[in-house]
This record gives sequence, structure tokens and C-alpha cells, in this order.
Amino acid sequence: MSSAYYLKKAGHQVTIIEQSDLTDGCSFGNAGMIVPSHIIPLSAPGMISKGIRWMFNSTSPFYVKPRLSGELIKWGYHFYKNSTKEHVAKSAPALKEISVLSKAMYQQLSKELPFDFGYHERGLLMLYQTKETELEEAETAAFANKHGVEAHVISASEVQALEPDVKVNVRGGVYFPGDAHLTPQQLVNQLIGYLKENSVAFQVNTTVTDFHCESGTIKSVITDKGEYSFDEVIIATGSWSGIMTSKLGISLPMQAGKGYSFTLQDVMKNVFVPSIFLEARVAVTPMGNSLRFGGTMEITGVNHSISMNRVKGIVDSIPKYYPEMKVEVPQQNKIWHGLRPCSPDGLPYIGRSKKVTNLVLATGHSMMGLSLGPATGKLVSEVINKEKTSIDISAFVPERF
Ligand SMILES: Cc1cc2nc3c(=O)[nH]c(=O)nc-3n(C[C@H](O)[C@H](O)[C@H](O)COP(=O)(O)OP(=O)(O)OC[C@H]3O[C@@H](n4cnc5c(N)ncnc54)[C@H](O)[C@@H]3O)c2cc1C
Repeated sequence: MSSAYYLKKAGHQVTIIEQSDLTDGCSFGNAGMIVPSHIIPLSAPGMISKGIRWMFNSTSPFYVKPRLSGELIKWGYHFYKNSTKEHVAKSAPALKEISVLSKAMYQQLSKELPFDFGYHERGLLMLYQTKETELEEAETAAFANKHGVEAHVISASEVQALEPDVKVNVRGGVYFPGDAHLTPQQLVNQLIGYLKENSVAFQVNTTVTDFHCESGTIKSVITDKGEYSFDEVIIATGSWSGIMTSKLGISLPMQAGKGYSFTLQDVMKNVFVPSIFLEARVAVTPMGNSLRFGGTMEITGVNHSISMNRVKGIVDSIPKYYPEMKVEVPQQNKIWHGLRPCSPDGLPYIGRSKKVTNLVLATGHSMMGLSLGPATGKLVSEVINKEKTSIDISAFVPERF
């Protein structure tokens, strides 16, 4: 949607081909956080050992379904290879730059789009309850400050002062004042309407099945509803992007990282600052009068089953951090799930393919696809217009594995 928006703005004719009816998807029910604070990629030292510990607990926030899949093994290998201090040091400036650009673009969008999408700048609170997490998070805060991302280690009473209406039970927290949040379904639904009104063509309930290529150029996109020809093709198919590029002989390691969310309506005493319960890995975001809880990362392939145990893990964490908030486990039909498109090095794939001349990639944003959407769209339009990109995108080069 972001690519379509900026390409249309630059004067292109744009068609979106989408397999669903566009009433749901990963960008609708996510936690809505805009996170310039997140400059450490998912593949970082300590993640593998933490992941292994979590794997054996059915209510934990992380799970990899062991399965004999060449794609999973390859992805796991690259994740392991990239879980180093060196990779973090190299990736942080690139993630910071794209995040800062994206937030600036959200500020602009909140003024230029003719609809409200619940954009607020209240920062982000990382909350912890244990000494171990406090030490880890203090290191993260120091790393952030070193890279020019403002972060404050604050006491339990300072956390409470930021939350006048909700009692908080924590040892302390780290406050990132530069983060923001929005209501994702409000943004995506209205953006679809806006794009339609502005002559972006939507070909929904249509699945891309293959490509017809000649001399390294896509001549047509083959779908279950017919064949279409375009000057330029953008693959922005989230968790399915690896499957798409394999049809073009391009290796794009990608795993779907399933997560869940549920939303409480008409909350009388609401949380004010979006927060992350660090030990539970649960994200909490106020959206008007409602309050959304999101979490878990299940690497179980592209599948849509719901693990009630893991949802219970999210619910059980709530009274630990907000002792006066009593939340029941929601009914299954009230639980939203989404598939995060996870690259193995925690960096998105953005840029023109080296192998296929008229192909641009815009995918693999993992936990930050909402946050990085506008910057990605803008960068895609610059790549297609053969302009100098607003930031250096060499860290995101698609064919890097
Ligand atoms: C619980 C949870 C919380 C999250 N919280 C945040 C957050 O706070 N902030 C943040 O920035 N991010 C967050 N994320 C991540 C974010 O939601 C994703 O990174 C983002 O939505 C990915 O968007 P996308 O457009 O790349 O992929 P998608 O939204 O998955 O879109 C890809 C589209 O491609 C279509 N498609 C696939 N294959 C084909 C085909 N062959 N033919 C036609 N169409 C096809 C799919 O149907 C899909 O609609 C969260 C995710 C989850 C699950």
C-alpha cells in the first residue's frame, strides 16, 4: 500500500494484485507501534539460547516448529550466522536511518492524508520486573543513546508517573520518547479507500502463480485470473515473498512469524504510553478507548491455526504488570493473528533485483512492517524513478543470501 501511495504520487499508474479480499492481513491487527527505538535486529547475540529455552514452554512467546524443511534449515543457518555483535553493530545505523525516515513520513502523512489514523507521539515504555532484564535493557538503552536514539532508564515511580490511570507493577523501565503509535486497521482500511479514489487499480481475490520472463525481464505476471503485463513489478507479498521469488530463481530466505493480538473495547482507565512487557514479550497499545495486547512469535510455516496456550500466556502476563487489570482469555473468534515476514538477519529486503531487471522487492520487515512502511514505499518509488534514494539502502539489498 505504501509503495502504491508513493508511486501514484510520483505519477505512475499502479495495480495491486492481492490474493485475499483485503479485509484482513498482517498489517490490520498488529500493535501499531512506530519504533525508531528498535535498532537491534532480531538476529542478535543471546537470541538463540533464549529461543531454545522458550521452545519448551507452551505458553512462552517464542516457538519454532521442528520440521524437515530445506527453507527452514537455510533460514536457521543464516539466523545463526547473523546473531553476532558485529551484525548488530553494522545493522543498527541502517535500521535507525530507515526508522527515522519512516517516522518523519508518518508525521507528514498525518497532515497530508484526508483521514485520521490515530497517530500519536507518546513514546514507548519497555517494562521489566527482574534484575536480569534490567541489566539487559540498561545495555540496550546505552546502545541506543550511543547511536543517537534517546532512551532513559527510569524507576518504577517514574514509570507510574507516565501512567496516571493504570497501576503498574514493575522494577523499572526504559522510556524511548521518540516512538509513536497509530491504529493500524484505521490506517490500512482508509488507505485502501484513498488509493481507490485516486485511481490505483485493485485486482483482489487474485493469486499470482508465476511469471513469464524473457532475457532477465518479467514480460507478464501470471495469475489464476489471467496474465498481466507491467513495466515494473514489485514483490511485496510479506511471508509469501520467498515462494514468489523462487519462481524467478531468486533466493529470499523468509519465514512467517505468527503473532496474535486481541483488543479490549471501551476501556475506562486506559494505558497512556504504548508499552512492552519485556519478560513476557507482550506489546500493549492504547488505540482511542480500546487497548490492544499483542505477542508471540511462532515460526511454524504459513499456517493459520491459533495456539490458545500462547494466547493464554499473553493474558496471564497482564495482571503481573497491571495488577488491577483483570482480563479473561478471549474467545477464539476474537483473536487476531498475523504472519510477520521474517528475514534471517532481521533486515528488510528493499531494492531492485540484480537478476531480474524490472523487479523491485519491498518485504521482510518482520516485527517492523508497519513502522517502516512509508519509508519503504518512498524508497521503492525512488528506485523505480531511478532517483538517488533518500537513504543508503545497501544493507537491505534483496539478493544478499
Ligand atoms: C502480533 C503482531 C504485532 C505486530 N506489531 C507491530 C508493530 O507494533 N509495529 C510494526 O511496525 N509492525 C508490527 N508487526 C509486524 C507487521 O504487522 C508486519 O511487518 C507487516 O504487516 C507486514 O506487511 P507486509 O505488507 O509486508 O505483508 P502482509 O501484510 O502479509 O501483505 C502481503 C500481502 O501479499 C498477499 N499475497 C501473498 N502471496 C500472494 C500471491 N501469490 N498473490 C497475490 N497476493 C499475495 C497476501 O495476501 C498479503 O495480503 C506486528 C505483527 C504481528 C503479527
